[in-house]
Amino acid sequence: MPRKFLIVGAGFFGSVCARELTDAGHQCLIVEKRDHIGGNCFTRFWEEAGCHQHVYGPHIFHTNSPEIWAYVNRFAEFNHFVNRPRVSYRGNIYSFPLNLLTLYQLYGVKTPFEAEEKLASVREPIENPENLEEWCLSQVGREIYEKFIKGYTVKQWQKDPKELPASIIRRLPVRLTYDDNYFTDRYQGIPVGGYTSIFERLLEGLAVELEVDFLKERDNWIGKYDEIIYTGPVDAFFDYSEGVLEYRSLRFENELLDQRDFQGNALINYTDERVPYTRIAEHKHFDMNLNQPKTLITREFSQNWKPGLTEYYPVNTAANNETFRRYGELIAKSGLPVTFGGRLGQYRYFDMHQVIAAALSKVKELLSK
Ligand code: FAD
Ligand code: UDP
Repeated sequence: MPRKFLIVGAGFFGSVCARELTDAGHQCLIVEKRDHIGGNCFTRFWEEAGCHQHVYGPHIFHTNSPEIWAYVNRFAEFNHFVNRPRVSYRGNIYSFPLNLLTLYQLYGVKTPFEAEEKLASVREPIENPENLEEWCLSQVGREIYEKFIKGYTVKQWQKDPKELPASIIRRLPVRLTYDDNYFTDRYQGIPVGGYTSIFERLLEGLAVELEVDFLKERDNWIGKYDEIIYTGPVDAFFDYSEGVLEYRSLRFENELLDQRDFQGNALINYTDERVPYTRIAEHKHFDMNLNQPKTLITREFSQNWKPGLTEYYPVNTAANNETFRRYGELIAKSGLPVTFGGRLGQYRYFDMHQVIAAALSKVKELLSK
């Protein structure tokens, strides 16, 4: 029997669910409060710069899973972009993520053996590192921590790194080779034609209503559908009854410059706390097309979230995770036919490939009911 699904949010979680449920013979309506599809992966073409702007922050697709790579390749062709960000700190440019070239730039060491010896001499003996700062000091010592991590982290999270979990930084590798690929995954790239084109194909033939805020008519919607897939913030769904979850928000300043190439790279991180932005993205490098004489750059500023601002990152401190756990209990108790998915529905720091995998697995579960 075909079921009627309402899907809230046209990001990856919502769009993949909509595609798969429709292909399995069910009826789906997608409502999206923004005026476009694609969620935070949305890109817009800038004629003057000849490239796609990553409107809600730079997105690089990467995955180790052949299945997820095959899945996204059904909806897009990917270029061979590899993320090799650089760090700018007090007038110097460094290779990043931390690798042998970075250690050469800092300490003059040239081989893995020399680098290991140097790191061993600067590491601080902290047996059970309990937070981000302690973990960094125990892995790379104070100089690297202060030049590469501390300022960026304070700007990004507006918290003392002693209050943050080390898990935030464990995503950052320290390599004793000259490999400066930010990711270790087997597959990586940027969709030719921008991310929005993936969503146009994912949602081809499906009913999508833009500029509709589900929460404004929540109870009305719930009665009309067999099941709802909700990818907005879980606390807002329940009118914050179990407490307000903390998020980080972002502000982007775009500038179209009358020059072909501003910084020679897609991403440069500014790790000095005195520089107000965290990074500058130069969008044409993602598209690997430097033909146009103009270029579009975006300075990214992190800011505290408050109602009215977009929730970009969950802040997974112990206290926030505890609040989220209470929402989990409420969901189970409520018996509502609602699935909470994606970065905001699950309050987890998911990358795109993880969201797609989670959506595919959720659809399997829904179809088996
Ligand atoms: P979203 O993309 O946020 O989609 C949710 C949608 O629901 C939104 O469009 C929202 O408007 C809509 N919505 C919410 N509430 C309502 C409502 N009440 N009514 C109607 N619609 C609603 N991942 C990578 O793999 N690589 C990267 O390089 C990368 N870089 C990132 C950089 C930044 C700055 C950020 C913020 C994220 C980055 N990510 C990256 C993560 C990636 O953006 C997410 O994994 C992905 O967008 C999550 O998809 P989603 O569907 O869960 O959420
Ligand atoms: N980070 C840092 N310096 C950098 C880049 C990242 O200290 O130059 C830290 C920072 O705490 C950040 C975390 O590593 O929050 C994860 O960064 P990443 O760029 O992987 O995450 P994203 O913001 O893209 O999700």
